[in-house]
Amino acid sequence: MAAAESLFFLDTAAILEAVNLEAARCRTAPEVVAEVRPGGATGRRLEQMLAAGLLVVAATPEGRMKVQAAAKKAGSLARLSEADVSILALSVDLAGSGELLSDDYTVLDVAKRLGIAARPVTKEGIGKTKDWAARCRGCGRRYGAGAAGTVCRVCGAEVRLVPRRG
Ligand SMILES: [Zn+2]
Repeated sequence: MAAAESLFFLDTAAILEAVNLEAARCRTAPEVVAEVRPGGATGRRLEQMLAAGLLVVAATPEGRMKVQAAAKKAGSLARLSEADVSILALSVDLAGSGELLSDDYTVLDVAKRLGIAARPVTKEGIGKTKDWAARCRGCGRRYGAGAAGTVCRVCGAEVRLVPRRG
């Protein structure tokens, strides 16, 4: 049996830019969803990800308090939006089960102070199509990156994204 796979906690920028993440492994907060304008590029991307399995999970008041305390100590609480606090709090709540993706310097800094696994979404190539390929878990057959999340034509196992070698 495969090991449990880690999750990705997405802020608004990550929803738009992390195009190759498997939606079912992604979580976001209701406040992030509320921040996205329907109809725009991010709105359409959000719709797609929700349809593909992105889950919207509310952060606990405890998680929120930890984030606010850390940001206050760092002097950056005023620079965090409601959505920022929420996705950070969700990452605190689910710490150990995944990592936060954001391009917001303040968010990443507060995450670091809280000891949450976090990294920038665009700077490490996670949003770049050329770095990823899709491959069947069962027979290893290769597919175009767009086939991720579908079922293998040959053996019926799940096709998922893997980092492209080389
Ligand atoms: Zn297969």
